[in-house]
Amino acid sequence: MYIPHLITKKQRGETLSEKEIRYLIQGFCNGGVPDYQMSALLMAMYFQGVADEEGRLFLSAMIDSGERLSLSNVKGIKVDKHSTGGVGDKTSLIIAPIVAAAGVPVPMISGRALGHTGGTLDKLESIPGFRVELSEDEFRQILLQHNCVFGAQTDRLVPADRKLYALRDVTATVSIPPLIAASILSKKIAEGANALVMDVKVGNGGFLRSLEEAETLSKMLVEWSATENVETIVFGTDMSSPLGRASGNSPEVAECLEILKTGEGDQRLIELCAVLGGGMLFLGGVTKSVDEGKERFYDLLRSGIGYDKFREIAIAQGANADDLEHYHERAVASFSHEIKANSEGYITAIEPKAIGLGLVDLGAGRRKSSDAVDHSAGIVFQKQIGERVREGEVLAVAQWSEERESVQDGLDRMESAFSITDTKPQDKPLVQFYCDRNGLVPS
Ligand code: URA
Repeated sequence: MYIPHLITKKQRGETLSEKEIRYLIQGFCNGGVPDYQMSALLMAMYFQGVADEEGRLFLSAMIDSGERLSLSNVKGIKVDKHSTGGVGDKTSLIIAPIVAAAGVPVPMISGRALGHTGGTLDKLESIPGFRVELSEDEFRQILLQHNCVFGAQTDRLVPADRKLYALRDVTATVSIPPLIAASILSKKIAEGANALVMDVKVGNGGFLRSLEEAETLSKMLVEWSATENVETIVFGTDMSSPLGRASGNSPEVAECLEILKTGEGDQRLIELCAVLGGGMLFLGGVTKSVDEGKERFYDLLRSGIGYDKFREIAIAQGANADDLEHYHERAVASFSHEIKANSEGYITAIEPKAIGLGLVDLGAGRRKSSDAVDHSAGIVFQKQIGERVREGEVLAVAQWSEERESVQDGLDRMESAFSITDTKPQDKPLVQFYCDRNGLVPS
């Protein structure tokens, strides 16, 4: 097959056949299709779109590029949760242990920071000793023993996605809904999950360009997974400001541990955890509805059972109890900078993408996959959207430990993320739509 011909087809908005898609995916994995040709193809897809049937073919070709993990000896409905990625999005760390403690097995294969968004694996690795690069046997054993495990994608699990995801990241072609759906579902199906709760982010802190794109992606996730016998429900949730009181790896882990320990913290973050966790409890058969699941989740959170479960999993994955207990005191940064209000008024916006890109400048994320991460780098918000502030009042504290040239750019970006005006902003609904096999319902 002549690759430039396939690129031309996509440039003209034509549809690729199953044979062509399988040829592309196999060739990309074995080196027969080089990055530069795949990049050209991705760019054509970005502008011309990818048809539903093409997306489904990408999904099956990607699953077949590797092996499926066998979790058949793990009893119960295995439920995973995934987010399309945002800033300060740390819900997995709170939800997974609570849902597992309620009896639902949670096999969680997560990602690393991508572009301006953070990644669960980088957050977990800020806990000394916590290992996420597990063999398939270790992954299975930890899940069997503790009902929950956090792991990275192995070389054998959807290798096509591993390569393609990295290329989409550096060619600014992440935002193609059918490829996002194929990327997410290929991992979840190969991992052996029976059900999935998806958090599709709406707003410029995520990857989707519009509400319509988020809705289109959600319907694909529900319909395509059903053909593989994976039941998926989707919540479209607001990502027009960073989630919670902290962004960055250690600051976010500290925030999660506090919430798991005390049951208290940022209301919007806790509400989102309850919605998504409630969905998992429902899909896992613990409750009869998502709403009942949400109430159960709040009770479990208040009981502190999630903290005990998280500690148990962390120790099974290499952390030690003392480091966890004293995480707050030990995860301190060497440098800090206060971001202050430049006028009096209401905080009307904290622009998440500017915060996310600022975090990358501070060292919390990566510009290329081989970059090392400064786990301590981050920002802790002292004020939230809607609060009234005086000129000079501290809005947030940025922190980092490794000196790098880009730090000043990062601090400037973060300062520019805050807007202060005379008018109190209206609250944005947290959940913007819900989608399951009965269709999509706006909130
Ligand atoms: N998360 C994924 O796993 N894949 C994407 O393409 C985007 C977000």
